[in-house]
Amino acid sequence: MAGCAASLSAVSMRILALKRRWQGVKRAMAKLYFNYSTMNAGKSAVLLQAAYNYRERGMEPYLMVAALDDRAGQGRIASRIGIAAQADVFSGADNLFEKIAARLEQGPVACVFVDEAHFMEKAQVWQLARAVDELDVPVMCYGLRVDFRAELFAGSAALLAWADELREVRTICHCGRKATMVVRKGADGKPLTEGAQILVGGNETYVSLCRRHWRAETGL
Ligand SMILES: [Zn+2]
Repeated sequence: MAGCAASLSAVSMRILALKRRWQGVKRAMAKLYFNYSTMNAGKSAVLLQAAYNYRERGMEPYLMVAALDDRAGQGRIASRIGIAAQADVFSGADNLFEKIAARLEQGPVACVFVDEAHFMEKAQVWQLARAVDELDVPVMCYGLRVDFRAELFAGSAALLAWADELREVRTICHCGRKATMVVRKGADGKPLTEGAQILVGGNETYVSLCRRHWRAETGL
């Protein structure tokens, strides 16, 4: 009986050890991250810093940016504070799973970074999720949560629904509260409440505000 109890205990110890190892593997598994913010919160700076940290440790990041954003010129991610890096541009027609798979064939990638992630199509967010699950590469997306009308971007809605981890990149309103909204102002400085969700290269300016001040500005 004593021998049986001892062997049972040995078996359960081995199961426990295997379980711990499995949990360890599980913890290390790749994830899909969504780092969301309002405008001018410094999300590109956060992305560039994280990518730099990988390079500093001898690991290669793969940087991608949505083609709809041409502020920094094609194929470049730039921050207002003056740092920038080259990035692979994608459009709404690109299959991001295929792009990542093709990049992995050229060599190991420690992490994929996607800037202006709110511009992604819903299907492209699934393609990123598939890359995480099947290619086992972490994907860090950075983008805006809502547009100037306080509506979710399609890419952001999908990321909020399907990402493994959500992180907020914070900035503040002029009153000191956390800014979660953005107003689009016309050339006359007046806030706009209608118009296309995506507008690149116009004379409009964007100001990040807390919800209270966004409501005061827009009258909504
Ligand atoms: Zn405020």
